[in-house]
Amino acid sequence: MIKPALPVNEAERLAALQRYRVLDTAREQEFDDLVSIARTICGTPMGAVTLIDRDRQWFKSLQGLEGEQTPRDEAFCAHTILKPEELMVVADARQDQRFSGNPSVLGDPHIRFYAGAPLLSSDGYALGSLCVFDSVPSDLGAPQADALRALSRQVSRMMEMRLLRIEIDHHQAEHDWYEAHLLEYYQQLEQANLELSEQTRTDPLTGLPNRRALAAALTDAIGRTGEAAPAVAIVDIDHFKMVNDIHGHGEGDQVLTELAGVLKSQFSARGMAARYGGEEFVILMPDTPLQQAELQCEYLRESVSLLPIGLPITVSIGLAVHRVGESSAETLRRADAALYQAKAQGRDRVVVAS
Ligand code: GH3
Ligand code: MG
Ligand code: MG
Repeated sequence: MIKPALPVNEAERLAALQRYRVLDTAREQEFDDLVSIARTICGTPMGAVTLIDRDRQWFKSLQGLEGEQTPRDEAFCAHTILKPEELMVVADARQDQRFSGNPSVLGDPHIRFYAGAPLLSSDGYALGSLCVFDSVPSDLGAPQADALRALSRQVSRMMEMRLLRIEIDHHQAEHDWYEAHLLEYYQQLEQANLELSEQTRTDPLTGLPNRRALAAALTDAIGRTGEAAPAVAIVDIDHFKMVNDIHGHGEGDQVLTELAGVLKSQFSARGMAARYGGEEFVILMPDTPLQQAELQCEYLRESVSLLPIGLPITVSIGLAVHRVGESSAETLRRADAALYQAKAQGRDRVVVAS
């Protein structure tokens, strides 16, 4: 037996074989089918698709006998790949120096006849072969030889397709992964947007809706038909500058927060209490007749004056009910004028706009 030489481009050939990612994969019907056709055309009981790895011959398909692989030194196909352009035919292995001492010639399956067509990679490396073999000497006619070559090209193409499919699956999986993460990212972004828009509508110190949120609610209340007109009150802390001057800004902030708590508890269930700026707040009372709105303001004024915060805090309130055809800014202006009067009349009181 003569051991097969290594191809001159062995390192590159092995690299090409690795690229196909086919070694040690499961048997596949498509490859078996081509081996069946090759056997039928050549009239042999045995056939295989073999790939020549570093030290072994591995079978992608094997028919007529069992096995996964054989040592490379004993592989007929390891000789076939030495001439990538040629079909290798051995009519009687016993008469061929290379194979006469081969274990598969001396023993099972007693190979006599062998014909193998190299399997070429897309860049021309011989990776293995499509081969047929028999336990009796034989030969191959020219049409069968042509058919075997054609089928080996089909096997090579199938390996290309297989690789392409793997790559497509891989890209698809990657695509799915990105899509899922993009969705997650969008959801986070949406949540962040929601929080941001909440922030743009909320006063950070008191947690009350801010001027912007109030404007929207007021426009909305004015636009609603079939209800009593909304009432609007501006609430301003009396002599608040003095609170800051005497007790400091921290204490001043504390007073604003306390007042916000009272406003929330009295008005947030129905209507809105917003921080309008500095120490001014606006109350929106939708669908509220004037008398009722006035009572609510009086109640608020009294509640503030009774707040147990250790400081004498009072508020002045200007109240106006929206008139048909009036803009929200005009209603607010009348409420502000009423507030001005409340201040002028001595503070700690509610004045209704005319
Ligand atoms: P009036 O009874 O006429 O309303 O007198 P006032 O002192 O309340 O009114 P003025 O407009 O002179 O002063 C309002 C003060 O409110 C001045 C400012 O320092 C204070 N202020 C505005 N915003 C804040 C705040 O967020 N925190 C604190 N601590 N003080 C504030
Ligand atoms: Mg003020
Ligand atoms: Mg004030």
